Order: sequence, then structure tokens, then C-alpha cells
Amino acid sequence: MSNSGETLGVLWNCMERRFMQAQRDEFSNQASLDYTDFWNVALAGGATKPRPKDVKVAIDHGAKVIGLGAHGDGCGGNPGVEDSALMDMLDAQIRQFHRDFSGLTVYALFSTLQGGTQVWRA
Ligand SMILES: [Zn+2]
Repeated sequence: MSNSGETLGVLWNCMERRFMQAQRDEFSNQASLDYTDFWNVALAGGATKPRPKDVKVAIDHGAKVIGLGAHGDGCGGNPGVEDSALMDMLDAQIRQFHRDFSGLTVYALFSTLQGGTQVWRA
């Protein structure tokens, strides 16, 4: 799993206690990054929200593999928003990422209580 520090990443996900660690684990596995190989920006709403400067700081410091995380089943950062709308917001963030940056590998992560954490190249 270790890549000897050759590749760095950043996971930007929701601070939600039910899903944050699962998304860290899945991002680490799917991207083949050790926990010390990626930054983690965890804020309410995660990648459904406007991009915080912290994500760009990680990219400026060499992050090439990006994890964009969100979740369903009630997000404190998006009170009352349905899962399908949260997925749409995540999709919009993915498109914005590809407009703003090139040469990055992007993974999307979406977690629910029933479905666990889904990860895909985005
Ligand atoms: Zn949340």
C-alpha cells in the first residue's frame, strides 16, 4: 500500500463522524496512499461546499491525487438536503475541479449507512 512518499494526495470530505474514517480508509486503499501520504481537509459538507483554500494549499504542496467526499443520510453541512441532491452537488464539484486543474487524479467518495462508502475515479 505504501508508495514510499512518491505520490501525495488530499482528501476533502465531510467532518461527519459516521463516515469520515471510512472515507479515509477507502481513499487510502483505492489511491494506494498511506495515511502519511495525504492531507485531509474535513469540514462540514465536505466536497458539496465551496472549495476551501486548504485544498489548494495541499495541491500547491504537491498533492496529485484528490479525493472528493460527501455522504447521504443527513449531512450537518447541508441540513434537509436529500441524498440525490447531495450527489448532484458532488458531481458539480468534480466538474469544477476538472475545469480548475489539470494533471490530477480525482476520486469521488459517497457514503451512506446502507451502501457503505462507494469510491470511483471521477
Ligand atoms: Zn456531512
